[in-house]
Amino acid sequence: MNTEFRKLPGVDQMLLYPQIAALESEYPRSFIVNMVRKQLDAARQDIEKGKPCPAINEIALSVQSNIDELSNPGLRPLINATGVLLHTNLGRAPLSKQAITAMSEISAGYSTLEFDVIKGVRGSRQTYIEQLLCEVTGAEAGLVVNNNASAVLLGLSALAKRKEIIVSRGQAVEIGDSFRIPDVMRQSGAKLVEVGTTNCTYARDYENAITSSTVALLRVHSSNFRVVGFTSETTIEELVEVGKRHNLPVFDDLGSGCLLDTTAYGLAAEPLVQNSITGGAALAFFSGDKLMGGPQAGIIAGKKEYVDKLRRHPLARAVRIDKIRLAGLIATLIHYLKGEAANVIPVWQMISADLKEIERRAQVLAAATNGFGKVIDGESMVGGGSLPGGTLPTKLVAISIEGKKNTSYVLKISQELRNYKTPIIGRINENVLLLDPRSVMPEADYIILQALAEITGRIK
Ligand SMILES: *Cc1c(COP(=O)(O)O)cnc(C)c1O
Repeated sequence: MNTEFRKLPGVDQMLLYPQIAALESEYPRSFIVNMVRKQLDAARQDIEKGKPCPAINEIALSVQSNIDELSNPGLRPLINATGVLLHTNLGRAPLSKQAITAMSEISAGYSTLEFDVIKGVRGSRQTYIEQLLCEVTGAEAGLVVNNNASAVLLGLSALAKRKEIIVSRGQAVEIGDSFRIPDVMRQSGAKLVEVGTTNCTYARDYENAITSSTVALLRVHSSNFRVVGFTSETTIEELVEVGKRHNLPVFDDLGSGCLLDTTAYGLAAEPLVQNSITGGAALAFFSGDKLMGGPQAGIIAGKKEYVDKLRRHPLARAVRIDKIRLAGLIATLIHYLKGEAANVIPVWQMISADLKEIERRAQVLAAATNGFGKVIDGESMVGGGSLPGGTLPTKLVAISIEGKKNTSYVLKISQELRNYKTPIIGRINENVLLLDPRSVMPEADYIILQALAEITGRIK
């Protein structure tokens, strides 16, 4: 028997150790016992592999740090200096002050969620937001659910189960993290009939595929990639023409949910929800947290006869939106109603930010890098399933280290920024660490400034 095993303290001995005993003022004893057992097991396994028995203070330290890690929320704010404004991994759209206030107020207490205060009777959580949606998009009816994938799933489950729906082969897209829109759609029981080719699909391709089982024509916005060169996509108007001839509705999965004209900001044109509605789509589906700039949600806008069918489907309850995000979404839509969206919704403030102002912020940050950073020209991306390939000119803080093992130092700075008390995320391109102020909320500039001064100060 390995004598190291005998040196291992018992659980009771560990519980008496001052550092562990002190934890009992904050955590239940059963939890501490559990964490101590796990650490002792780990030590036992190490000994089996031939390692010496750790000292009691080392075991106590590990227990303490494991407990600290568990009780520190893994979900916490960070600073997005990647230059990708709607970064799915970093939480997509930051919210307006009004949306944040509304969400906080509604979460703190009771609300009119499903209560009509005038009549004193039960109401619907959808009534008010539906009116707003109709006003902002021009649609006849609207419904909001958990997210866009569930909106599409609900739509096809309610209207296309065991029926055929025709979609262009070039629009059968994967939206990231290996989620494929066609797979979500098939979950509904609908049969997707793909027509055309990857680069070209014409109105006649849809028309030729129509059978007695066809219930709708579907357009999916190729929101995260761009096919360039010889291409042809059928417009919503052309699709609606085909639909009219065969008495079929057109559904439009827009993805990004853009309500403002992106070309006014020097970007490519992103399909507008309003155009989809005026173009005659029976239903438009989009996200709340992409270009709309609100909380996560799936929004359905369109003709009343179809929206009502979705509203009554059992899945509608399974994918319903919660009161907190509903509050944020209403506050966000009110910005559009008031015509103030571009000035108060963070993603639109970032899109419309003045290049001179971005340069000024970049210069202030570069000045804090102990001579390792300078300001260079660069490009920001909107991202998050919108404007694929479209970029905005920006000014970047570029940090590089001449001579001195450039690669490893740049990696080290980037790692230290990620591990900063508020993590700061940039990107590395050819051994240069790049930070883009465009995707940073200006209030957070001073945190980056402090971090850069501290971290680059240690390299000098
Ligand atoms: C992003 C996207 C979705 C999924 O939206 P979520 O709100 O993330 O569920 C669906 N369709 C398209 C075209 C998209 O771009």
